[in-house]
Amino acid sequence: MIPYGKQEITQADLDAVADTLSSPWLTQGPAVPRFEQALARYCTVSHAVAFSSATAALHAACFALDVGPGDWVWTSPNTFVASANCALYCGAKVDFVDIDPATYNMSVDRLAEKLAAAEKAGTLPKVVIPVHFSGQSCDMRGIHRLAQQYHFSIVEDASHAIGGRYEGQPVGDCRYSDLTVFSFHPVKIITTGEGGALTTRRADLAEKLTAFRSHGITRDPQKMVGPSEGAWYYQQTALGFNYRLTDIQAALGFSQLHRLDAYVERRTLLAKRYDELLKSLPVTVPFQATEQASAWHLYVVLLDSRKAVFERMRELGIGVNVHYIPVHTQPYYQNLGFRRGDFPVAENYYERALSLPMFATLTESEQEQVVDALLTATQVV
Ligand SMILES: *Cc1c(COP(=O)(O)O)cnc(C)c1O
Repeated sequence: MIPYGKQEITQADLDAVADTLSSPWLTQGPAVPRFEQALARYCTVSHAVAFSSATAALHAACFALDVGPGDWVWTSPNTFVASANCALYCGAKVDFVDIDPATYNMSVDRLAEKLAAAEKAGTLPKVVIPVHFSGQSCDMRGIHRLAQQYHFSIVEDASHAIGGRYEGQPVGDCRYSDLTVFSFHPVKIITTGEGGALTTRRADLAEKLTAFRSHGITRDPQKMVGPSEGAWYYQQTALGFNYRLTDIQAALGFSQLHRLDAYVERRTLLAKRYDELLKSLPVTVPFQATEQASAWHLYVVLLDSRKAVFERMRELGIGVNVHYIPVHTQPYYQNLGFRRGDFPVAENYYERALSLPMFATLTESEQEQVVDALLTATQVV
């Protein structure tokens, strides 16, 4: 089976992990700050804070932006459930903004309409979480303009998009947002096994995130209530979690980061090749906006009879997948009052979407196998 996504672990990665394992530090040592600094440098941003997953990072982002009961958080329905769950963890309410039919990202037009209605109803969001679906950035300039008008914060869910660019600048530079989230799950562009990170330009947020990651505890006397009682002393000043990345994971991430540009270059080449190879097939290939350079986490085609094609592709040994089941159609969200039909563009997209194998070590002959299988599968149905 050719999977839809797969990590690459090199000898350099193995050596980096082995070095950490034989060092005095398995966690809370030097590898995490080294990885964070490298990540911040890559994104040309002042702060990066590593987490045990992107899900934990999303939770931390909502915490740092003071999301709580009575607040609204809006995201895209075309995402993994974690982009929405983070608001619920903080006791806030979630709503969705339908997607653009060309990019499958949050539609800025729908966002503008929904904000105008929410202003009248007194239900404006505190935070909006645009998701850079498949690795292509949302229209951040447009979303930022609306944020200035309606005074909400922006958390970019860039779980798909590390190594991508928007208007020529790296995704994660937070030029148009408060925070950006990355995921290092093995199917993503680079991996730490499990892991995630947040980037930000705001020192105040970075400080809150760092405390939240480790129980809300500080060891810095400057940040304590009253004087420190000695060198052993720490204070818990907020309610946090253990959301730390280990040094073992950070060593892997630091090693992988060296290959990020090469990975994205390879994925871009494979995407262009898919575009060519699929020209005569009855499928819609991904649209790319000109101000974008996608990180190409996913290569999604739209086609008819998706279920039959999916099953035939799997029989033919091609590990196709579907991204995403619209979050509001999940039973948990239906119980919160969402209904099918609420976000029709995302629902129509979902009916026709198929993710083809896309990963840096996919060979050109494997890619041709995928296309041949797709030709067979679409002819049969
Ligand atoms: C993978 C993913 C997440 C969650 O990432 P984890 O690191 O697995 O917690 C969140 N949002 C999106 C869009 C994702 O693709």
